[in-house]
This record gives sequence, C-alpha cells and structure tokens, in this order.
Amino acid sequence: MMSYCSQCGAALELRIPEMDDRLRHCCNACGAIHYENPKIVVGVLPVFDEKILLCKRAIEPQKGLWTVPSGFMENGESLEDGALREAYEEAGIRPQLTRLHTIYSLPHINQVYFLFLGKMLDDQSKKGIETEALEWVTLTDIPWSDLAFSSVKFALKAYQKDLSSGNTQVHSGVYKVS
Ligand code: ZN
Repeated sequence: MMSYCSQCGAALELRIPEMDDRLRHCCNACGAIHYENPKIVVGVLPVFDEKILLCKRAIEPQKGLWTVPSGFMENGESLEDGALREAYEEAGIRPQLTRLHTIYSLPHINQVYFLFLGKMLDDQSKKGIETEALEWVTLTDIPWSDLAFSSVKFALKAYQKDLSSGNTQVHSGVYKVS
C-alpha cells in the first residue's frame, strides 16, 4: 500500500484519475499517478533423459516444498534472460531453452508466470542459497502434494500430458480462487 509520493513526498490520494476507469494512487501536489501492474515470474522446466529437475525451497514462501527454478523477472531482461538467470542462480544449470511451455496467471496476487522447457545435456546441478535440495525426478515420481505453487503443478501436469500426446502448444492457465 503506497502512502507517499515517490517523486515529491506528498501524501497520496486513492482516486480514479480523469480518462481512467480504476482507482490509482494519485499525487495532488505534483500530479504524478503511481500505476501498479502485475509482476512477471520467469522459470524453467529443466529436462534431462525424461527427468525433471525439482528444487526444494530453502526460503519462504512455501519453504520445504518443491518447485522448478523460477523467480521475479528483473528490469532490463528478456523473459529468456530471466529464466536462464534463475536456472543458474537456483540450480547451477545452463539449460538450452527449447520453447515457451506454460503461461499461468494469478490475478488474485497480480502475478504472471512464464515457464520454458530447458533441455539439459547432463544432470549436473548445484544448489543456490534459496534452494535446500535438488532432485531429478521421473514424471511418475513427482511429489504432487508437496509442490510449492499451483503454477508449477499446472505446468508439470501439462508436460506429463504432452509426453503422451506429442502436443507442443503453449499451455495457458489461470488460478481460480475457490
Ligand atoms: Zn508527488
């Protein structure tokens, strides 16, 4: 929640600006409108020899649960740059990104995931500080009830179906608050 203008320090007012249709944090002193938009999360499904590399999270949120290398995109990066950076930071791997695999929207927390398939030439990996453990798992060994995020569950389920169907289309999913 924003309270003060980052440009001039004055108190902000939450109102609908002219020619707009939703509430924004507006500065009545300098006229700045502080827009807030969704954040992008980028990541990789690292694949080697029909196995996927999973990372056990060493930090909150979802500490102790499993995910794939992923994190917030940084300014100045492409989606691919960000996915490769996260793969190296969290798992010490340099996969070849073969294609975009999953787009997953989380409107309730204003995030969008972009997950790529990353082909690995070997099974070497090295955990980063945000990772407690790394494990190559076959699709039959995925710990479905211990996955950290609905986005990762959606992507892995889709990947599992792709392997039997041969589908190579991008999967698009939306988290629904129940
Ligand atoms: Zn201001």
